[in-house]
Parts: sequence; C-alpha cells; structure tokens
Amino acid sequence: MTHYVRFTLDHAARPTLTDAGGARYGILEDGHVRPIRSFFSSEPDGALLPVETVKLLPAANPSKIVCVGRNYAEHAKELGNEVPTEPLIFLKPPSSLVADGDDVVYPALSQNLHYEGELGLIIGKRARNVRAEDWREYVWGYTCVNDVTARDLQKKDGQWTRGKGFDTFCPTGRWAVPIGEVDFDGLRVQTWLDGKCVQDAPVSDMIFPPGAILAYITRFFTLEPGDLIATGTPPGVGPMQIGSIVRVAVPGVGQVENSIVAES
Ligand code: MG
Repeated sequence: MTHYVRFTLDHAARPTLTDAGGARYGILEDGHVRPIRSFFSSEPDGALLPVETVKLLPAANPSKIVCVGRNYAEHAKELGNEVPTEPLIFLKPPSSLVADGDDVVYPALSQNLHYEGELGLIIGKRARNVRAEDWREYVWGYTCVNDVTARDLQKKDGQWTRGKGFDTFCPTGRWAVPIGEVDFDGLRVQTWLDGKCVQDAPVSDMIFPPGAILAYITRFFTLEPGDLIATGTPPGVGPMQIGSIVRVAVPGVGQVENSIVAES
C-alpha cells in the first residue's frame, strides 16, 4: 500500500492557510517522507525528510468538498428520514479541513455535535458529464473523512451550510491510497469514539456507489483534480463531547483521529 501525504515544514500551520506558501506532496516510507511533485506525478521533488520534521496536512487539497447525505439506508432511517431516490448532495467549505491529530472545535453555537465516519474519494482528473461505469478514470484515491455535523443547527436552519461547515468540521485522512491498490468492494467504514466502535459497515451498503455519485455530481459541477467527495455515513451516528477522541478508519485505506475541544 502506498501512503500518499501532503505536508508542510511549518508545524504551526493551519492546512487551508498554508497551501499558498508551502504545502508539498510525498510518499511515506519507513519513517520518512519522499517528496514528489504531486499525487498525480511521482516525479521526485527533493531529499528524504524524517516524518517527525514535517506536519502532515489533510490528504486532499480540494477546490470543493462534495458530500452525499443519507447514502446508507439504515442511517437515513435512524434519523427518521426517507431513503433518497437520487443522491442528496451538499458542500462543506475547504476552510473546514483539518488533519489527523488536529483539534475539532465544539462550537459554542451548538449543543449536539455528531461524528459521521465516511470514505473519501479524491478526484484525479477534471470530470464533467462522467458515465457511471467510467468513475475509476476520474477518482485517483481513497481517504477517510469525518463529516462533523452540528445536528441541532442542521435541523434548525433547514439547509446545511452552517451545521456542516464550521472550521474544523472536516477531518481528513493522514494519507490517501490510489484506488488501484485497494479492493473497493472489501472496504468498511468504522468510527471509534473514546475507544468504542460506534459505526462499522461495508461500503457495499451504499445506496449510490461512486459511479452513480460521480455521474450525478458531474451533471452540474466540474470536478477538479484534488476535489474531495465524502460518500455518506453508515448507521450509528451520535454525539461527541468536549474531551472526546474520535477516530474514523477505513481498514486498508487509513484513519483520521481528532480530539474535541471547547471553543476558546
Ligand atoms: Mg455525512
């Protein structure tokens, strides 16, 4: 399994603010990062760096984060919603991205903050009007996403921009892996809250698999290389508290673990 990472040498950096000044790409190898030109070109881009000397950034640098709601029937039902007949699409802003190990801030405006473990797709090629059966030509890799949600604000607002869009609401995997190195049909999405498994389901339970999602989205958006698609969460969503540690894992793909902290 090849672990592709994004990194910066600035340990104090916030991911979305550093990209103009120094986000780089690399491959993790035996405690080192081997810099490369980009995820889409393995051309070398400098000397090996010990991993402890870099800060790993979210393994995606999207112009947009496109999310699928209610893509597992049992999750739609657990929140009292109908199972959708076509993909339910919403956006999270790139300013919501945080990396593995970064804090997720519990907003003072919310009293009901939920985790949603999800498989992430990273787009590798500009995509518009894609046919479902061609999705593998456009998706470069997989990663893990926690679609953090202020459930009370999501319900109160009637649309989801605020409830899904706060800063730190999109923890994204420590690394990404190319789709050709993983058997999609064997993947599972798991979420662990304070060490307890709270979500565990096969991605084959998705109502709309990646091909259907890509075909639907690219009828109205152009997807750009680096764009991130969060493919929806399985059943078992629930609240996190200040002090909670939440980990989303897709065995064979990776994980992202974060602490929940109070807004300062
Ligand atoms: Mg979600």
